[in-house]
Amino acid sequence: MSYSYDDENIFAKILRGEIPNDTVLETEHSLAFNDIQPQAPVHVLVIPKGPYVSYDHFAQEASEAEITDFTRAIGEVCRMKGVQEGGFRLISNAGEHGVQEVPHMHVHVLAGRPLGRMLQKA
Ligand code: 5GP
Repeated sequence: MSYSYDDENIFAKILRGEIPNDTVLETEHSLAFNDIQPQAPVHVLVIPKGPYVSYDHFAQEASEAEITDFTRAIGEVCRMKGVQEGGFRLISNAGEHGVQEVPHMHVHVLAGRPLGRMLQKA
């Protein structure tokens, strides 16, 4: 599958500074910011700065530097938010079945309360 990136998506606008965000962490290749509609006491979105649609796209085409930076950024966010002890959940929605709203690769970092079972029955 080949991916086509829509550079008018909301996270692309955030990366270009056209829309404000509540930044948690910025690194060379990644940005982490608070979700506008948090679903847990900690709800941070971590995105690569590059134009990737989904985790699969990122894994296929990102450089090792981008992948390392992104992975470490997630860990850094967990440490900054102090969630290692209580625990946390990472989610990366992709495509229709994943119910992805914003077509720019992102990982949700959720924590701060018991999060329940991973999936509800459809
Ligand atoms: P998805 O369903 O694509 O995995 O989740 C997209 C997430 O982006 C949602 O949790 C939604 O609340 C968040 N979101 C959408 N628009 C904005 C925005 O303009 N700013 C921020 N900070 N989060 C947004």
